[in-house]
Amino acid sequence: MKKGVVYLVGAGPGDPGLITVKGLECIRQADAIVYDRLASPELLREARKDAQIIYVGKASSQHAMAQGDINCLLVVLAVQGKTVVRLKGGDPFVFGRGGEEAETLAEAGIPFQVVPGVTSAIAAPAYAGIPVTHRDFTSGLAIFTGHEDPLKDGSAISWEKISTGVGTLVFLMGMENLDAIVERLLTNGRPPETPVALVRWGTLPQQETLVGDLSTIAAKARESGFAAPAVIVVGEVVSLRDRLRWFDNRPLSGKRVLVTRTREQASQLSALLRDHGAEAVECPTIEIQPVEDFSEMDSALSNLAQYDWVIFTSVHGVRSVLARLQDLGRSADALSECRLAAIGPSTARELEGAGLRVAYQPEEYVAEAIVEGLDGVAGKRILLPRADIARESLAIGLREKGAVVDEVDAYRTVSASAEAGPVRQMLATRQIDAVTFTSSSTVRNFVALLEQGTKKEERGTGNEEQGRGDEERGIGNKERGTREKGLRVLDLLKGVKVACIGPVTSRTAHELGLHVDVVAKEYTIPGLVQALEEFYAKERR
Ligand code: SAH
Repeated sequence: MKKGVVYLVGAGPGDPGLITVKGLECIRQADAIVYDRLASPELLREARKDAQIIYVGKASSQHAMAQGDINCLLVVLAVQGKTVVRLKGGDPFVFGRGGEEAETLAEAGIPFQVVPGVTSAIAAPAYAGIPVTHRDFTSGLAIFTGHEDPLKDGSAISWEKISTGVGTLVFLMGMENLDAIVERLLTNGRPPETPVALVRWGTLPQQETLVGDLSTIAAKARESGFAAPAVIVVGEVVSLRDRLRWFDNRPLSGKRVLVTRTREQASQLSALLRDHGAEAVECPTIEIQPVEDFSEMDSALSNLAQYDWVIFTSVHGVRSVLARLQDLGRSADALSECRLAAIGPSTARELEGAGLRVAYQPEEYVAEAIVEGLDGVAGKRILLPRADIARESLAIGLREKGAVVDEVDAYRTVSASAEAGPVRQMLATRQIDAVTFTSSSTVRNFVALLEQGTKKEERGTGNEEQGRGDEERGIGNKERGTREKGLRVLDLLKGVKVACIGPVTSRTAHELGLHVDVVAKEYTIPGLVQALEEFYAKERR
């Protein structure tokens, strides 16, 4: 049997990008992952599909599983020959009880490795614009637990030494004892005007920072209801935040934005939104699936030489055609017999990535512009691989100019309803600031998803019809479009800014009764993000 091993891995403080390369590799390899509440849940998506994922949640007071049981669990899994990852928030050896887990493993003779992580003690201040050391202010840093009541007799912390002996003090798990911590520092000689910052949910989009000094911070925290999880930073370095603030003052900071693309496509938009400060919530409304019947496509692909142009209107179109060619035992090169047009830069990149040359790409990224731009199409044969629910304006426009157009279904878009529940909930509780749409179908499917939820809710639980209802939940069931449901959807979207990638998508949104607040000037993902930024910049002014 394979020999088991345990990796004690630091997941970092929250921003999933702050895990180490080695830590991520461990997650990807693991047979079993044992994780805590504070670890970023996104990281678990990196796990193998068949990995065993065990939650042993650790809120500071209520342990879902006692530490002793966690220690045993690690040993048991390893004895079964598994590669186990013990994923812990921040760094495993900074107040994570990773030391105790390692001791247990050592005693049991289980091989283990430690993969250090980025600790919240340093990262949360950093994301608040506070360097924990700085030549001009302090030559040292000390990290303490604020968990035990500092006013209790026999405190494990030597308050009389640390209060004046160390430049920067960071307390973890200290929010409940903030008053007492402050009092201890003051009575032991730290000046009342010493700056203090509280950083809550550090490195995450919802990060909040409260700044004061030793004489004011406790009252300020009480007034604003500032709660855990937070780090407390005490020392002159806190004053640097005024100049070094960088994370929570970006154009989209504090905004929670819905991304309605497919799971595969969402990442680019989500990453860009996050980079500009927003929290991106992915709500895939559609999934891309192969067509059921390939005969049309196959016959077109076996006669590629007869076409003057192949026009691709989406990345999916490119991928589907390339995948089908591969299934047929042919290479992408087969397409080089024709001239290729791409509707936008992503589609062009997809073709170029397969080693193909794009002969034409319109300046404006809408189908109509292709018709305008491709002059001299009269009498030419054009192949148009598209989604089964594509708009027909391109084909019509080309035919009007005298082209002979073969449209073939290259892929299907089907409704992805899995994530609708949580997103509806967030909308209902007004937690979403904006929703982005990158195509007409994302708008239609999003509205359809919300309507389905409405229907389910109206039906109530335990209703006999509930089971039967599932079949009706495909896209485009016209009967569902009652006025009432439309109103419910609009109600859910009240106050939510609607941002569209271009005029066609925006028109669809209008048609469905949505109020469109933002339309990108450049019809690309970066164009969409920029338009959203400009919108909020204006709103702020
Ligand atoms: N091993 C962890 C700390 C675990 S103790 C680390 O190295 O970061 C849990 C405490 O860490 C919380 O009570 C809080 O004080 C702090 N903490 C963890 N993540 C945090 C975050 N994202 N923002 C602010 N504080 C955080």
